[in-house]
Amino acid sequence: MMRLPKFRYFSPTSVREAVRIRAGEGPDAAYVAGGTDLYPNMKRRQQTPKVVVGLSRIPALSRLSVGREGFAIGAAMPLSAIERHRRVRREHPALVHAISEISTPPLRNMGTLGGNVLLDTRCNYYDQNFEWRQAIDFCMKKDGTVCWVAPGSPKCLAVQSADSVPVLIALAARAVLVSPGREREVAVEDLYRNDGIHYLTKRPEELLTAIRIPRADGWRASYRKLRRRGAFDFPVLSVGAALRFEGGSTAEARLVLGGVSSAPLRLSVAESILVGRPLDREAVEDAAQAAAGPSRPMDNTDFSFLWRKQMTRRFVAFALDALREPGTPAAAVS
Ligand SMILES: Cc1cc2nc3c(=O)[nH]c(=O)nc-3n(C[C@H](O)[C@H](O)[C@H](O)COP(=O)(O)OP(=O)(O)OC[C@H]3O[C@@H](n4cnc5c(N)ncnc54)[C@H](O)[C@@H]3O)c2cc1C
Repeated sequence: MMRLPKFRYFSPTSVREAVRIRAGEGPDAAYVAGGTDLYPNMKRRQQTPKVVVGLSRIPALSRLSVGREGFAIGAAMPLSAIERHRRVRREHPALVHAISEISTPPLRNMGTLGGNVLLDTRCNYYDQNFEWRQAIDFCMKKDGTVCWVAPGSPKCLAVQSADSVPVLIALAARAVLVSPGREREVAVEDLYRNDGIHYLTKRPEELLTAIRIPRADGWRASYRKLRRRGAFDFPVLSVGAALRFEGGSTAEARLVLGGVSSAPLRLSVAESILVGRPLDREAVEDAAQAAAGPSRPMDNTDFSFLWRKQMTRRFVAFALDALREPGTPAAAVS
């Protein structure tokens, strides 16, 4: 049985108190929301904070509000509560779909949107228990020096694997970050860095308090995820797509890949191929073709990386086909 290491636990009741404690404790501290990522990582000694600052007793972090601008979802709101929320379901079904594919119902009762957005990067050489990792002399991400995925690589190649992220980026969501004496807002897209160890641009003491999502306002979105088991598994390739139509043509497009690098990947060439054209079979096939180039999965998750690359075209086509009028024939992408 794997046991948690010893740590001190704080249970603040306000955002201000939480950021004060976290900032005061320095690099040996971590926030915890649902704990469905952090605690297993601590049991495996992948993360070893001496101080843990719990977020579950801060009411402001579990609220959802809807205004003229859109939705503000508290970072510690459980995933299952978002899934059930009628207005989110109506306006952002793609987000609800992505959330419904995260782990399992009991884990979605504990897991939160903020924890998902800030999920640790994953890798076959890292997501193992201590003894397994010790037997290979560890890896660059924790306690070692070599990236076993590509031993010549100067940086860790662990992969971004959070289901909500590609859709949130496609929906132009923003993150609210609070630290002592300061609040700032950044695009969710700008939260990530293509580095498996330093995968977040936010400072460690910054608390994610909310995710803001604009009104759908004519945008339609979809999410498609590749995984081995339909019941539960992390994505090893995922696509978030959002399109806005004008007069029968695509006026704006956002396409995002997850599961293929340490940061989510925006497919700008594929996006520009769609703009100004009707979303017909040819447009979907052209965009899906263009998406395969920048998709460079590494050999560090389930399935062969070559096959995952090949699947990029098909999954981008699935995501785009879902945005076409019901009953239109699917694009022929093999
Ligand atoms: C068996 C299993 C299967 C899973 N399958 C999937 C899957 O298919 N898809 C998927 O996306 N995830 C999956 N997960 C991971 C996890 O359950 C979800 O990502 C969940 O949303 C994490 O949320 P949490 O609140 O539990 O995060 P926590 O574990 O509490 O936190 C995760 C990280 O975020 C930080 N953090 C959390 N909240 C904040 C905040 N407000 N401000 C600053 N830092 C914060 C923590 O310090 C920690 O580093 C799985 C987990 C397990 C155990």
